[in-house]
Amino acid sequence: MGGNLVEYNLRNEIKKLIIKYPEFSCTENSKGFQIEGIFHLFAKYKDVPIRDDYEMKMLVPSNFPEELPKVYELGGRIPRGFEHVFTDDSLCLGIPMEIRKSLAENSSLVGFVDKYIVSYFYAASYYRKYGTYPYGDRKHGIPGIYQYYFELFTTESKILVRQLLWLIYGDNYRGHKACPCGSSVNLRNCHGEILLAIIFRPELKQQAIMDLLMIVEFEEVR
Ligand SMILES: [Zn+2]
Ligand SMILES: [Zn+2]
Repeated sequence: MGGNLVEYNLRNEIKKLIIKYPEFSCTENSKGFQIEGIFHLFAKYKDVPIRDDYEMKMLVPSNFPEELPKVYELGGRIPRGFEHVFTDDSLCLGIPMEIRKSLAENSSLVGFVDKYIVSYFYAASYYRKYGTYPYGDRKHGIPGIYQYYFELFTTESKILVRQLLWLIYGDNYRGHKACPCGSSVNLRNCHGEILLAIIFRPELKQQAIMDLLMIVEFEEVR
């Protein structure tokens, strides 16, 4: 029953997307939906309007939003030096945890496209024109993941980020224990609230674990 409900909703989300972006075409396959077409960008950030066109493909897995879509730019228009592209050529639309948190608030597919694809292509066009990123320097890969958790946990310590993620990974959250940040306050009254917001949502917890494993793997091979 759960599966059907999810599928019904996704079909509806796809319909809404095609209504909003009529130049997209959609095909369905065993893994989900493939959306393809020209994306007409017209966006403005801090008084810099940009109009541009991108040819793109988006794979929306049938278990969206549990699994995130993969987006590809097909026209070779991502500027050289723009670092937010993965090795499989899919676009790095943002820090996965951040995307998941925003999907936890609002899981609409149109909302996802409006937010992440618009800002991605805006940044790419901006970069092509000015050679810099419009919204400050979002780092790619592991440095980007750290950057995200530094802000989330209000710290600059990689060790603390790893310690807090380990608590999630190992199911070791105990509210009465001392917070590893050294505040000498117990977790419950310190970083606990942020951790619990992740722990209570399976998809966020899973993402935190994946982030930790990526960090650990990356740091081991160096
Ligand atoms: Zn990136
Ligand atoms: Zn703390």
